[in-house]
Amino acid sequence: MCSMWFKNRIMNLEKLLRNNIKVLKPYSSARDEFSGEAEVYLDANENPYNAPYNRYPDPLQWELKIKIGRLKNIAPEKIFLGNGSDEPIDIIFRAFCEPGVDNVVSIDPTYGMYQVAADINNVEVRKVKLNEDFSFNAQKLLDVTNLYTKAIFICSPNNPTGNLLDKTEIIKLLTEFDGIVVVDEAYIDFSPENSFLGLLDSCPNLIILQTFSKAWGMAGIRLGMAFAQAEIIRVFNKIKYPYNINILTQLKALELIDNEGEKNEWVKIILDERARMIRKLFKLPFVQVIYPSDANFILVKMTDARGIYEYLTDHKIIVRDRSKVTLCENSLRITIGSPEENKKLRKALKKLVVGLIEDNE
Ligand SMILES: *Cc1c(COP(=O)(O)O)cnc(C)c1O
Repeated sequence: MCSMWFKNRIMNLEKLLRNNIKVLKPYSSARDEFSGEAEVYLDANENPYNAPYNRYPDPLQWELKIKIGRLKNIAPEKIFLGNGSDEPIDIIFRAFCEPGVDNVVSIDPTYGMYQVAADINNVEVRKVKLNEDFSFNAQKLLDVTNLYTKAIFICSPNNPTGNLLDKTEIIKLLTEFDGIVVVDEAYIDFSPENSFLGLLDSCPNLIILQTFSKAWGMAGIRLGMAFAQAEIIRVFNKIKYPYNINILTQLKALELIDNEGEKNEWVKIILDERARMIRKLFKLPFVQVIYPSDANFILVKMTDARGIYEYLTDHKIIVRDRSKVTLCENSLRITIGSPEENKKLRKALKKLVVGLIEDNE
């Protein structure tokens, strides 16, 4: 599909990388210099007591990557693990974007971290507004690129709108854009569509982001994934902190990845609950639009989103007010919780309807 890319692959990566990163000599840890099996380790100034926490973790997390690789059918060399997806997002800027010179393109609205990471790295984000139905046109994104555009950020299913973006439009970006295309799939487990992982080998400019924070229920251990060609992953490994994934996270992830069946159960329950939530919220008089969702949240347009947000907060129920976000005027983003939590939200909203009727009398 993107095979025309193959022959120029290495040259293109060289052209995309910042110069200081190309020549960067990374920190070499004790574990980098000796990574085999030994009996006595006296090379890293570790304390001999308090195992297993006394030892520095594997800087490249091979055991975990092999396990994730089996799960996703991806070679471990094509996997980068970060402290949440936020780490690879930041590293993408640091690897490719010269501060004050280069730019990236993103859709609007989308996940807020792309802009924050860009601002921290002093990189311009060229935003292209989604269509009214939250779909996008690849050509509009391509039209705002220039010689200094290093990456395009796509999030599908998108946050905060909840919808999947058109696959053929994303493929158009992958084939026609001469830089990196990032596809953030944080919510892919909740969606009926396949991941872009299957295209990784035919699209050398593709970086896919996934996370253990959502469907896998591990937001607290901070573990995000980036999938890309091994050449790109090698660059990311040079930039990251040597021991970016701590031993507690590595051990816990190794244990919890065995619970894939449980993850799939959770997803099923959450999708059922999403359908129930949509059905019931539709009946409330102040609900105007519930946008179609392929994720574990729904975006709901209401007559007075801020007022309802504050009412819910007073009832100890917190949702996300997205009213100030492009195309999301008067909209709340509601995460689908457990059946009990969702019921509490609906009960509070129903009480509000009764209250409103009484106020009018
Ligand atoms: C939640 C989310 C992530 C995950 O972030 P982590 O740092 O891995 O917790 C990534 N992208 C999007 C769009 C998200 O909504």
